[in-house]
Amino acid sequence: MRVDKLLSNSGYGSRKEVKSLLKAKTVTVNGHVIRDGKIQIDPDTDKIEVNRKEVNYEKYIYLMMNKPPGYLSATKDAHDQTVIDLLSGEAKRFEPFPVGRLDKDTEGLLLLTNDGQLAHELTSPKKDVKKEYAATIDGEVTEEHIKLFQEGITLKDGYHARPAGLEVIKNGEPSEVLVTITEGKFHQVKRMFEAVNRKVLYLKRLKMGELHLDASLGLGEYRVLTQEEKNYCL
Ligand code: URA
Repeated sequence: MRVDKLLSNSGYGSRKEVKSLLKAKTVTVNGHVIRDGKIQIDPDTDKIEVNRKEVNYEKYIYLMMNKPPGYLSATKDAHDQTVIDLLSGEAKRFEPFPVGRLDKDTEGLLLLTNDGQLAHELTSPKKDVKKEYAATIDGEVTEEHIKLFQEGITLKDGYHARPAGLEVIKNGEPSEVLVTITEGKFHQVKRMFEAVNRKVLYLKRLKMGELHLDASLGLGEYRVLTQEEKNYCL
């Protein structure tokens, strides 16, 4: 990678600020002063120092966000705001992307990273990663619905969903439920309820595998994963 990008990602400021550091001959690669930010280096094998202090390079960023409604789980969009618009410049420099998708109106746990391998592990259908959602449903949720979800419900387009957990927290008009699925098909939870003639009025993701949404994060807030949380995912 380019040395200016590495320094910028390691907390040495914007590309412009890094350029000044380079110009001031404060940056060395394997002991040699360099002044050109375009120079390619390998962070695993090259030793990079600024003012004789070794740069502690973090290649990846792992963020947990409480996604607010109204934002797309995408990196850019011509019309709508995306979850990337909620990040600080410092976090954006790592070029993170959302792991899996939540609908524009869905809230809750969203992981953002630039680690493609981790994203693949968490979203691959083969991995069976459980995702738990809290949902508000526009009518009663019956024992029959629970059984159908358990068996694997057939959606209106004929797709057979995998077995899913459905737990009723409060029954009535509306009902509050917890749904656990291991797939991430487009509008999956909404379409599962559609198949039993119910509408999802509100949807929030609470868990992804062992990762739980931090209840202290307000809508639109995010934080880096703790080492323990990273260990669950990696
Ligand atoms: N299922 C949905 O229908 N929407 C989401 O955003 C996530 C799961």
